[in-house]
Amino acid sequence: MKLKTIVIAGTGQAGFQAASSLRAEGHDGEIIMIGDEPGLPYQRPPLSKTYIKEGRADRLLLRPESFYETNAITLMPQTRVEAIDRRAREVKLDGGDRLGYDHLILATGARNRRLPIEGGDLRRVVELRTMAHADEIRDLIAAAQSVVVIGAGFIGLEFAAMARGLDTDVTVLEAAPRAMARVVSAPVSQHFAAYHAATGVTIHFGAAAARIRNDGTGAAAGVELGDGTVIAGDLVLVSVGVAANDELARAAGLATDIGVTVDENLLTDDPAISAIGDCASFVHPLAGARGRIESVQNATDQAKAVAARLAGKGAAPYGAFPWFWSDQGARKLQIAGLTGTADRHVVREGEDGKLAVHCFAGETYVGLESVNAAGEHVTARKLLSEGRRITFSDLREHEFDLKSLRAALAG
Ligand SMILES: Cc1cc2nc3c(=O)[nH]c(=O)nc-3n(C[C@H](O)[C@H](O)[C@H](O)COP(=O)(O)OP(=O)(O)OC[C@H]3O[C@@H](n4cnc5c(N)ncnc54)[C@H](O)[C@@H]3O)c2cc1C
Repeated sequence: MKLKTIVIAGTGQAGFQAASSLRAEGHDGEIIMIGDEPGLPYQRPPLSKTYIKEGRADRLLLRPESFYETNAITLMPQTRVEAIDRRAREVKLDGGDRLGYDHLILATGARNRRLPIEGGDLRRVVELRTMAHADEIRDLIAAAQSVVVIGAGFIGLEFAAMARGLDTDVTVLEAAPRAMARVVSAPVSQHFAAYHAATGVTIHFGAAAARIRNDGTGAAAGVELGDGTVIAGDLVLVSVGVAANDELARAAGLATDIGVTVDENLLTDDPAISAIGDCASFVHPLAGARGRIESVQNATDQAKAVAARLAGKGAAPYGAFPWFWSDQGARKLQIAGLTGTADRHVVREGEDGKLAVHCFAGETYVGLESVNAAGEHVTARKLLSEGRRITFSDLREHEFDLKSLRAALAG
């Protein structure tokens, strides 16, 4: 059946891509995007890298306003989807209006986790997810003497490098024993800990924030650890991971777990509702277990897959090859594959901060974590997305030179 109206809840990376790809795939019905943020859809990665410093909002936009007009995409910014009436196939908006849909795409993303500690709501305690957060931080950082970052994940460390680049004193507190521990191998953690230390960032591992200190006026003065140590700072960034925005789905009676539960076609348990991007919990064939992937690649590729299905181009099970990047000062981390399944690592170090960590699950090559090695990253992506099983012995035979292995396989 041809779909008339497709409503997209969420105007982030995934929502934007779904709208754009629906038109590109030939959907000629209505496309309505509803998002609670102001303005045009924009990309988040620069927020923690260049945007706070440069303040060029125009560089963040995914497309100019004319794109939405030309493609007859109705954009409803600053509008929240409050509820889904599945029987009537309508969404209820915060202003009280109701909008009908033939298919609904949930692209509601994720929000930052909060730290349930004393002082979390003081002034100058900030988070970073949206352009509005970044604008607030820009104003505060200009006056800050020293910054404390709680959480040494990708965003915390990108922010730390950016703040250090502004000549601010920066201390990072991480409860785990190493940086980005949830997502990268120990050699990559060590590489980045050494890099940040060399630029003058202080990082404390095994350091759980217990309380944010009040300067007496209701603003942050520093962070107190469990043992009573106080790290002074007049700006505190809390970056301790995200949680899926799945309440809308749950309230509508859809299955949820660590996000909105979807099948291999990214459909919820209602055939008229799909979910994509940071909010979607799915089983990636390379992971073999349910999870969420928080990346631009995942948001984009899931949106493309759903758009193709809704435009009648077929419904292949979703399994796009995952990749990711993080820019931290002069270091570019790139990850090809789901390397979290690895139990064996081969490390190759080069000059100028170059690093390649080849990741294996038993004998099977599952991915590459690399630093300042764009060529190797691209080759790993090509090799691994071709679907052929590559083993430890294959790579050892080629002295862990991916280009040489790829050439041999092609020949
Ligand atoms: C600072 C930062 C840096 C990042 N850097 C990188 C990077 O270097 N590389 C990388 O691959 N990824 C990076 N990411 C992650 C990447 O940006 C996300 O994975 C991506 O934005 C996910 O897209 P999404 O559309 O699923 O969710 P989002 O971009 O979060 O968009 C969801 C939108 O839906 C809105 N919404 C939620 N509920 C409702 C509702 N009920 N009604 C209406 N609107 C609603 C939200 O407000 C939001 O605007 C970064 C993220 C951040 C925050």
